[in-house]
Amino acid sequence: MSDLFKEYKIPHAGLKREIHEFSYELDETFFANFDNALITKCNIQVNITFDKRHEPYIIEVDMDGTIWGECDRCTSSIPLSIHTSFIIYVKYTYDEALKDMEDVEIIYIAKDDTVIDITQFLYDYAHLSIPVHKICDKPGETEYCDEEIIKLLEQKIEDNTVDPRWAGLDKLKDKLK
Ligand SMILES: [Zn+2]
Repeated sequence: MSDLFKEYKIPHAGLKREIHEFSYELDETFFANFDNALITKCNIQVNITFDKRHEPYIIEVDMDGTIWGECDRCTSSIPLSIHTSFIIYVKYTYDEALKDMEDVEIIYIAKDDTVIDITQFLYDYAHLSIPVHKICDKPGETEYCDEEIIKLLEQKIEDNTVDPRWAGLDKLKDKLK
């Protein structure tokens, strides 16, 4: 079986004890391999610095790019800029001192492990970086906005009438509160 995530596994066993840099792009094909991914369209640049000079090895990951999500206001698909970075410590033996460290992820590897798999971290941090409030920059004025829905919403908020055709918009309106 071919390894779908080969690219996201750092082949540390074959690397010298120095600082290494990797970079690649994550797009929706990466997330399509997971059952519950919320990301269906994206372009994320991933830059990795792997410091193998001494233990714990330190992996710094920087993710920068665009994830497409549904606008809270007009429900159309809009590009959302994301940026996140995180640090992973890699150790062979359990380290009590690292247990309470905040903002640091830890991967324990066995002596005979040849790769360090960061697939799950890339998945998790991409999802965590999705903005809580997803709103068009200028509602109704961007090429992505669904102006029909924005108009309906505005009318609905003004009239406060209960037109059955707009029943589905109530949910949207609640999100705006
Ligand atoms: Zn919108």
